[in-house]
Amino acid sequence: MLRIESFVLLPSYQTNTWLVWDDESKDALFFDPAAIGREPLEFIQKHDLKVQAIVLTHGHGDHIGGLAYFKNQLDAPVLIHEADAEMLLDNKKNLSEYIGMPLDLPAADRVLQDGDIITFGAHQAKVIHTPGHTKGSIGVLIDKFLISGDTLFEMSIGRTDFPGGSYEEIMHSIKTKLFILAEDTIVFPGHGPSTSIGMEKLNNPFVR
Ligand SMILES: [Zn+2]
Ligand SMILES: [Zn+2]
Repeated sequence: MLRIESFVLLPSYQTNTWLVWDDESKDALFFDPAAIGREPLEFIQKHDLKVQAIVLTHGHGDHIGGLAYFKNQLDAPVLIHEADAEMLLDNKKNLSEYIGMPLDLPAADRVLQDGDIITFGAHQAKVIHTPGHTKGSIGVLIDKFLISGDTLFEMSIGRTDFPGGSYEEIMHSIKTKLFILAEDTIVFPGHGPSTSIGMEKLNNPFVR
């Protein structure tokens, strides 16, 4: 069975770092290591999980601050959409300079495109390109779980006023790529509580 846990490693931004795993095979994916922290490592060790990849929903500093640390600790490849890959190596583009915590990060090991599959254990995680918050923002669908990054939040949507952002694109992404998913798909966003596609289709005031 598929399981999920969140860690808040960067309290000032409340970024969700998600760990998804199969409780039989113990294979796992680790999303958006926002900052350095022991808690996920202890959890991974305690549950005897094998992290197959570190997946980044996009290249903003508040989602990648712990990337070098976790790549080293977990010895797992780093995956990001091709349009955001350069943000890992540019502290202006990833905004880390702007928020006062410049980063020194590894490059991506694999760049992703829309429709790519990330296999872990018996599961297939599907990459959904959802540009708008950044050019290379992705959602990742694993069975009924959607890791939505900063595209779709509970009753809100991601900001589009940063470089690479586009209001028209994020609206298009949400309507044509996310709101076509099954209503009972559970949405695990980059910030704030989880929700579902059905809930957001009915109630999200920003998408009409
Ligand atoms: Zn962001
Ligand atoms: Zn964010």
